[in-house]
Amino acid sequence: MNASILLRRIGQGITHIFFPYYCIICNDKANRELDLCIECEKRLPWLKNTCTYCAAFLISNQSICGACLKKPLPFHKLYVPFSYTEIIKKLIIGLKFQKKLVYAPILGTLLAEKINAQYQNEKLPDMLIPVPLHKKRLYERGFNQAIEIARPISKKLNIPIEYKRCRRVVNTVAQSNLPASQRSSNVKNAFVAHKQLAYRHIALLDDVITTGHTLTEISRALYDVGVKKIDVWCCARTYLDGN
Ligand SMILES: [Zn+2]
Ligand SMILES: [Zn+2]
Repeated sequence: MNASILLRRIGQGITHIFFPYYCIICNDKANRELDLCIECEKRLPWLKNTCTYCAAFLISNQSICGACLKKPLPFHKLYVPFSYTEIIKKLIIGLKFQKKLVYAPILGTLLAEKINAQYQNEKLPDMLIPVPLHKKRLYERGFNQAIEIARPISKKLNIPIEYKRCRRVVNTVAQSNLPASQRSSNVKNAFVAHKQLAYRHIALLDDVITTGHTLTEISRALYDVGVKKIDVWCCARTYLDGN
């Protein structure tokens, strides 16, 4: 370890002695380097019994839902640990619409820990691409929440974040404001990717996934320039029409 990293670690340790982490849910000392205690983490809305490829709820003992058996989403792997409900919904809304950037490390760290466990015997992707915002939306919001969530993941898993070579070129209407039937056409051709991304194994990262249309459209742009493999990592899944 070089001297600057060592000094930074010592500095962080001293900071934590004077400013320990407190749980954002129960307000007790968190006793770890995250503003969330272990007990409250256990009570988060963890998804269980969901499709391996789209995280839809399963009604039988299969691991793949009927929709994915017919037409799978174009990803090698999809990992979504939480349902978009309860405290997870509050954290994401707080981050996106109330500029509570302090929530991003919590979401990112939880996602990174669970991803690490999922990839124990598999090679991790070699590049992380947070779903890009259109420059107008980025200007209005002041930050991209997907990039903020990606930062702790990048650090913990040692995967670089790619900010520039995949762009949203159409300022689409927010998918959450549209019925499911219009979501696919809304994001059509909304993204472009640079051919320098070819041959990469990429993890696409977003805060919330619903129908998967946005991630499918970005994947199309990435596969078009020669990307070989795409995994999707998302904090939370929402459900429309019982799917
Ligand atoms: Zn707590
Ligand atoms: Zn599925």
